[in-house]
Amino acid sequence: MAVASQRSTEMTDEQRAITEMVRQFADEQIIPAAEHYDHEDEFPEPIVEQMRKLGLFGVTIPEEYGGMGLDLTTYAMIVEELSRGWISISGIVNTHFIGSYLLMKFGTDEQRERFLPRMSTGALRASFSLSEPEVGSDVQGIKSTARKLDDGAWEINGQKMWVTNGLLSGVCFVLVKTDPKADPPHRGMTCFIAEKEPGAHENTGDWAGFTVPPKIKKMGYKGVESTELVFDGYRCPAENILGGEEAGVGKGFAQMMDALEVGRVNVAARGVGIAQRALELALRYSQERKTFGKPIAQHQAIQFKLADMATKIDAARLLTLRAARLKDAGERSDLEAGMAKLFASETGKEVVEDSFRIHGGYGYSKEYEIERLYRDAPLLLIGEGTSEIQRMVIGRKLLERHKI
Ligand SMILES: Cc1cc2nc3c(=O)[nH]c(=O)nc-3n(C[C@H](O)[C@H](O)[C@H](O)COP(=O)(O)OP(=O)(O)OC[C@H]3O[C@@H](n4cnc5c(N)ncnc54)[C@H](O)[C@@H]3O)c2cc1C
Repeated sequence: MAVASQRSTEMTDEQRAITEMVRQFADEQIIPAAEHYDHEDEFPEPIVEQMRKLGLFGVTIPEEYGGMGLDLTTYAMIVEELSRGWISISGIVNTHFIGSYLLMKFGTDEQRERFLPRMSTGALRASFSLSEPEVGSDVQGIKSTARKLDDGAWEINGQKMWVTNGLLSGVCFVLVKTDPKADPPHRGMTCFIAEKEPGAHENTGDWAGFTVPPKIKKMGYKGVESTELVFDGYRCPAENILGGEEAGVGKGFAQMMDALEVGRVNVAARGVGIAQRALELALRYSQERKTFGKPIAQHQAIQFKLADMATKIDAARLLTLRAARLKDAGERSDLEAGMAKLFASETGKEVVEDSFRIHGGYGYSKEYEIERLYRDAPLLLIGEGTSEIQRMVIGRKLLERHKI
């Protein structure tokens, strides 16, 4: 039951066609299979293979590198549909999207030519890594380092945490300190394009010293792996510094913060997608379930809940698309992306909880899809910056824009 979802009148013909295609894909291939992969915590390889065929790993990559060359707005619409199916599927694409954005915006021509053609087909998938065991929100506090060796290569040491697609990706955009004494610390941070063997826990040969421990067990967001990364004497050639050695050393923090801005639009779209699915489930269940002689949808308290859910989803979607459109138009969207991420992720959690309540006891049963959504939704409050961090970003940007 697809109801009250993205309004096709606000879309271009191309956006309408691709959104409908992805919605059909979600209805036919993601939603029916999600229960199995979630339950087994198994990587959904057949779904990912289909996504490769549909070109979904190259949506924003320019056509000259084999991608579709679509804008952030269209990407956000696609992410909403994938997340409506299962947010783990959008998680498989999300870090890849951030990696390709980093290459498109900051990479050298040589780096773009080396990585983007394989990334556009999904043959090579990307992850990105800022967080560490002791540091998440306070990115400038990371401890991992890279130092230049006599032969010109760089050696990375340190431990990373919570890397989505950490095992199966073939390339990880990893932020480390190249000048741990820099003041302020962000001036001493650099982003390395760390290559590795997809699926290997212990890398060997040129990539020795890059270990991926077993995946972290999570309450939700299953199927897509989240891992630690251990760098112990991992050698990275200077040409793998994002943007090249001359331009890239010391620029990693700014590069990653730029990428997180588009990442926030992406997480906002995921909030809209999961909320949309929760509303659909609530609309159906509330018309089927009867109490006190009538469908619960006929009780005003339930109708009010449905009304609030739908209203919040529309508002979240509009905020998300506004942030994406500003970015596509080349305008500042830091404040707007923060607002979209904050509101849409909170909406995702609230609407899922309302739908869960509408399901009564059955919402607590693994037989019902809402149980999975209830475990999945809280992740959106954390990734790409928690709600507290979004409020800090919004507050700071507001004051910057309205300085007296
Ligand atoms: C499933 C999953 C996947 C992830 N994937 C990735 C990934 O692919 N790559 C990656 O780099 N990271 C990833 N992360 C990490 C994620 O970005 C961090 O968990 C997040 O940034 C929060 O950091 P933290 O967990 O260290 O919490 P902390 O920074 O320790 O924060 C703890 C609490 O304190 C609050 N807080 C912190 N500072 C302040 C402040 N100044 N004012 C008020 N409140 C504050 C926070 O909002 C939070 O509520 C993932 C996390 C999860 C759970």
